[in-house]
Amino acid sequence: MSDVRNVIIIGSGPAGYTAALYTARASLKPLVFEGAVTAGGALMNTTDVENFPGFRDGIMGPDLMDNMRAQAERFGAELVPDDVVSVDLTGDIKTVTDTAGTVHRARAVIVTTGSQHRKLGLPNEDALSGRGVSWCATCDGFFFKDQDIAVVGGGDTAMEEATFLSRFAKSVTIVHRRDTLRASKAMQERAFADPKIKFAWDSEVAAIHGEQKLSGLTLRNTKSGETSELPVTGLFIAVGHDPRTELFKGQLELDDEGYLKVNAPSTRTNLAGVFGAGDVVDHTYRQAITAAGTGCSAALDAERFLAALA
Ligand code: FAD
Repeated sequence: MSDVRNVIIIGSGPAGYTAALYTARASLKPLVFEGAVTAGGALMNTTDVENFPGFRDGIMGPDLMDNMRAQAERFGAELVPDDVVSVDLTGDIKTVTDTAGTVHRARAVIVTTGSQHRKLGLPNEDALSGRGVSWCATCDGFFFKDQDIAVVGGGDTAMEEATFLSRFAKSVTIVHRRDTLRASKAMQERAFADPKIKFAWDSEVAAIHGEQKLSGLTLRNTKSGETSELPVTGLFIAVGHDPRTELFKGQLELDDEGYLKVNAPSTRTNLAGVFGAGDVVDHTYRQAITAAGTGCSAALDAERFLAALA
């Protein structure tokens, strides 16, 4: 068992690295578990990021994350490319166990484990991510000016993405596997009233086509089984997100959808000394800059919590 640290950060997206930067600069020597497979978080899977302030010409997602990582490391953050497999956050001294079974102890823990967008599970989906396939209209809508695109899903997010995308796109086809929508009435009406939005009812995406870039989809009718081709250059997948909170169940309060509950505008959870930031908390904004912003808040909250103990 290791000595007691000031702070352990679980997760290495924009929220985790920002929390690491701030706590490192406050001389708290944070230990950061970056994750075994996806160190750097969601932006490691994308290409151009054009909406993170400070990069006039945009920056590639992995480059942005490498910069954040190096900046945190420069001030003394200890970065470990490993997963946390269990935690006990209830006492004054919190414990965090890694994949080798080593137990790490700290007075404060910042949770920044992010959320996983649900996938369709089709071949080509990952290969064409950032090359026509996207999970974020706010991030990527601008790239699809005057193009034909599709949105998959029938909930509020899908309607919101489709109405947002219709500002840029030539046409937006909402692909939904039923003949009625789950979205709220107001969101449905906005989508129905939009002349650029069409619906492919009772339909699911059967195949995603393209070599370097998305070129089209095969749709399958969920009732008849018939297939048809939809030539689109953009596919926005809006079938939900799963916050990564499995580890914390039974210890940290979660909302109905599994997101970590915090006492906003602070990042305090229900347990003293445990803070949450980024997409694991946020089902509204889900942007790199908002994750970085709350990562900063969590670091400052942890810093004040530790100062009060001293
Ligand atoms: P994440 O980036 O998801 O990072 C969470 C980290 O926690 C991961 O590294 C994961 O490995 C780690 N982790 C999870 N569990 C454990 C564990 N048990 N132990 C250790 N580590 C763990 N936003 C924009 O602002 N602009 C864009 O252009 C943009 N493009 C995007 C493109 C794609 C394809 C996607 C998927 C998202 C995009 N986003 C964009 C959204 C943005 O990536 C997220 O809002 C942001 O990354 C959230 O940051 P986070 O730090 O909360 O979580």
